[in-house]
Amino acid sequence: MPAVNTVLVVGSGLAGTATAIHLADRGVAVDLIEIEPDVAAVGSGITLQGNALRELRTLGVWERVREKGHGFDSLGLRAPDPDGTLLAEIPDARTGGADLPATLGMPRPDLARILHDRAAAAGVKIRFGLTATALRQDGDGVDVGFSDGSAGRYDLVVGADGIRSAVRRMLGIELETRPTGMGIWRAFGPRPASVTRTDLFYGGPCYIAGYCPTGEDSLYAYVVEDAQDRSALTPEQRLATMRELASAYHGPWDDVRATLTDPSRVHYTWFETHVLPAPWNRGRVVLIGDAAHSCPPTLAQGGAQALEDAAVLAELLLAADTLDADLWTAFTERRVARATAVVEASVQLGQWLLDHEQGDVPGLMGRIAALVTEPA
Ligand SMILES: Cc1cc2nc3c(=O)[nH]c(=O)nc-3n(C[C@H](O)[C@H](O)[C@H](O)COP(=O)(O)OP(=O)(O)OC[C@H]3O[C@@H](n4cnc5c(N)ncnc54)[C@H](O)[C@@H]3O)c2cc1C
Repeated sequence: MPAVNTVLVVGSGLAGTATAIHLADRGVAVDLIEIEPDVAAVGSGITLQGNALRELRTLGVWERVREKGHGFDSLGLRAPDPDGTLLAEIPDARTGGADLPATLGMPRPDLARILHDRAAAAGVKIRFGLTATALRQDGDGVDVGFSDGSAGRYDLVVGADGIRSAVRRMLGIELETRPTGMGIWRAFGPRPASVTRTDLFYGGPCYIAGYCPTGEDSLYAYVVEDAQDRSALTPEQRLATMRELASAYHGPWDDVRATLTDPSRVHYTWFETHVLPAPWNRGRVVLIGDAAHSCPPTLAQGGAQALEDAAVLAELLLAADTLDADLWTAFTERRVARATAVVEASVQLGQWLLDHEQGDVPGLMGRIAALVTEPA
């Protein structure tokens, strides 16, 4: 008997949907609620590292992910010079195992659709346009009020509702989410033939300029600058700003920039970070994924860490008979140090750039690759 029979998962991102699939596959009744009206509401692309792919394979969606995405095994470092000179080609660690690519880019809506289809097939009851408005727990369960006026009672509530988690707020947890000092311009668009893997350009007018192929016909490109208030810009001004910043980068960037013509595809976000100190649960309510720990995407590990939280939580819930302190201790031991190390390393990589300091980037990346190569 699992430790829980009924579970409410709040938030249908990677952490929430993966948790729901793992539990529903083993007979747990799972309700999954999502505040957005539709699965494919969020655009852009995502870089998935090998350890994320390993989790997606365990979830039974690897073949579909492979078909939709674009896998690759090396990282290019290029100079911000008139030729975009290739300085180095670094083999990427295959952190998910030798039989999976080191890295795979894919459009976020496709990944969300694949996971949602899988969750529905597993028997997860998914409801869109809905959130939890009240949580009250006792020794045996959690009473939940929903935004449509309905109510339910569950053995466990999983708060997987992202960086600004409402569940975290309802638990009364104060957690400072801090800007790291960088802002990123991102654009999703067509992939020129010259882009076959991620290349990073350090220096020039931006800290980092790069791109990631996300499929046969698509990529996302990005430039990272000092965080600033860009909210007053019109979509056309946003496009012009990103094109201007990117004009210092050449080689394949020339082809990418030529495709940067659609203002609706350009987005600007600040990098932010937080880590919730252990424990991540309050009684029968637990926070996972970005709700508990959030890193800037300098290592592209946020998705992987969310998927790992889901896998470890579900494994422990399915192996135990009761939801007790031992289970939460085991969850803390397996997840908190690992996710914290990833967040701290991701922040450090950006901080070295902000400080114009020559940090030990290969050493740090090697250490994190070794850590996440170990199963979660
Ligand atoms: C600019 C940027 C680029 C990034 N790039 C990468 C990358 O390339 N690779 C990578 O691995 N990671 C990347 N990340 C990080 C990654 O996106 C996150 O770590 C990951 O998506 C976390 O998954 P999650 O399921 O915890 O949260 P989320 O993906 O945020 O999902 C939370 C879900 O909960 C829903 N929700 C929110 N509030 C409520 C509510 N009150 N009720 C119900 N539902 C709610 C949201 O709509 C959402 O669907 C990036 C992050 C940023 C900011």
